[in-house]
Amino acid sequence: MQERLQKILSQAGIASRREAEKIITAGRVAVNGQVVTELGSKADAESDRITLDGKPIRQESRKRYLLLYKPVGYMTTMKDPEGRPIVTDLLKDVKERVYPVGRLDYNTEGLLLLTNDGALANRLAHPSHEVDKGYLVRIRGQASPSQLKHLQMGVDLEDGMTAPAQVSLVRESDHNCWISITIHEGRYRQVRRMCEAVGLTVVRLKRSRYGFLEIGELKPGQYRELSSTEVERLQ
Ligand code: URA
Repeated sequence: MQERLQKILSQAGIASRREAEKIITAGRVAVNGQVVTELGSKADAESDRITLDGKPIRQESRKRYLLLYKPVGYMTTMKDPEGRPIVTDLLKDVKERVYPVGRLDYNTEGLLLLTNDGALANRLAHPSHEVDKGYLVRIRGQASPSQLKHLQMGVDLEDGMTAPAQVSLVRESDHNCWISITIHEGRYRQVRRMCEAVGLTVVRLKRSRYGFLEIGELKPGQYRELSSTEVERLQ
């Protein structure tokens, strides 16, 4: 896409547009080896070679914030030594290098945030950032009131007691039930280990909520861009 050079320079984080104009008129910018001093000049940041004082400028990629319904059977690491599919394989039209905020197990499905905003990702993934995460858990057989109470009060895991959680029974059928668990910690396989510790067998685990964000109508493998208001609320 052809854009004014001063816009390209400012988007690359080199200078404000006003300062970029001065840099251009001073003859410090070249496009494909030709010095350009005229202010209306346009170039294509992707395909033209744009240099400042002889050095190529690098355009900062657009910040992306995606909410993905991670299907079962995808890794949330960026590479899998065993060659299993990874969540970024699902992002067909995203050219920026985004990565997941936190982790979901290979067999867990549901809400996963992906971004190339490293500062935000670090903040959200830090243990001190206690965002509520809501999970729906399908259990084999039934869950007794005392098992639910135990999950709610805190479970003694090998890495310590879990904090109190919000737990409720959502639905029961002859062979299974669904429970909802909301935690703000994010320990390794926490929900599965909590359920196991109180004698419940997890047959499906889905994250339905992350803070104020809900999975909504998305289907496995689908994703959407966060709105600018959502991004602001995450900051
Ligand atoms: N708890 C788990 O056990 N697994 C997940 O993927 C997320 C939370």
